[in-house]
Amino acid sequence: MTAALASVRPSAAALGNDAKSAATAGQDHAGAFWDRQDQALRDKYRARRELAAITSLSRVKKCGRVSTNEGGEVSLHHTPGPEGEPGTAGFGGLATCGSVWACPVCSAKISARRSKDLEQLINWNADRGGTVALLTLTMRHHRGHSLRELRRALSAAWRHLTQSRGWKRWKTDLDMDYVRGVEGTHTDLNGWHLHIHALLIFPTDVSAEIPALTCEVYTRWAAGLAKKGMSATAEHGIDVRVGNGAVEKMGKYISKLAFETAGGRWKRGKRGSRTPFQILADAIDTGNERDVALWQEWEQGSHGMQQLVWSNGLKQRCGVTEVKDEEIAEEDGGGELAGVLPARSWKKIYPVAEDLIIATRHGGVPAARAWLDARGLAFEFEADTTERAVQLDPGDAPFAWLKAALAAEDPEQRRERRRSYYRPATAL
Ligand SMILES: [Zn+2]
Repeated sequence: MTAALASVRPSAAALGNDAKSAATAGQDHAGAFWDRQDQALRDKYRARRELAAITSLSRVKKCGRVSTNEGGEVSLHHTPGPEGEPGTAGFGGLATCGSVWACPVCSAKISARRSKDLEQLINWNADRGGTVALLTLTMRHHRGHSLRELRRALSAAWRHLTQSRGWKRWKTDLDMDYVRGVEGTHTDLNGWHLHIHALLIFPTDVSAEIPALTCEVYTRWAAGLAKKGMSATAEHGIDVRVGNGAVEKMGKYISKLAFETAGGRWKRGKRGSRTPFQILADAIDTGNERDVALWQEWEQGSHGMQQLVWSNGLKQRCGVTEVKDEEIAEEDGGGELAGVLPARSWKKIYPVAEDLIIATRHGGVPAARAWLDARGLAFEFEADTTERAVQLDPGDAPFAWLKAALAAEDPEQRRERRRSYYRPATAL
């Protein structure tokens, strides 16, 4: 706490923006990097499929499986990468749950975006000569507390703190802003553990004020908890880090929200602590009923909880666009429309969908065609991207234009002639 607050610029890695570091990884490591990316994709997709059988949330059950198109078709998207690197690929026209807490696929997508938002915020703040601190607030708990109970107490105490006169005075005097997140873990010994991470943003160096601020925050936090019959200790209830340490810890928190950071390495944290996604992975691996029940308690207890809350007007000031979790999850992410997979093909692709994405990512449209051909699966693909027979009007509803184009064409003629479909990048 005594360390001077430095203006911090985060490295991409500090905030968990792994994909960004591919270009700088060096040729020797590039192959291994892409292998890891492929493995992470496999882990996420498999986990989501297994999750469909045990989830208590209907949106999660449908995520990535059910087509949102009337005819049940699903689109495949692809954008080539820079010379010598894989591109991106993904599906479109599928239901997405947009759950940052409960879906291995959506959470990764959303967390990646939120991590970029934070990077932008921290760089913006560093540019204006500002400083940051990370405030972590916890409460005492035991196994008898339900997740819902803890969540209620956490929300009430945070509200009590941020609506207090003391907090408002600090906010005005130091021109303080914040982004707050909630983290949940579980141990067999003590049950659920919820805590708050709040990144505090200041336009100037406020090192001298931090001890007094910490003291006041702790008092208000403890008073807020007491109203709900909960408590905190000064020793464990509050932790404040400044400068680089703050950014790193916030980055770790965001990256821990993504399923793949725990993927394949399901080691428990200190004192047997598990993140919800680690509980999910254990539930999938072992089918342990208690883990399944714990996971479902997490799904229900975290439902509707906001991952990150920004103080009023902060996003706008640092130029971060307001996008809902559900909107991020819906983005097909793969770029240009490569082709359309009819419902009967999709049914067979779904159990191994990640393989088609990986093939497309590395080998582009020809690899996707070969993959589908080898399995005898029907598809509508473009053969030559220079022949763009159908132009999408960005105002059109997804696929309305495509359906119209296909309906207007004689089926025989369609088989004869490979069509080319094109969506301008702005529509994605
Ligand atoms: Zn999802």
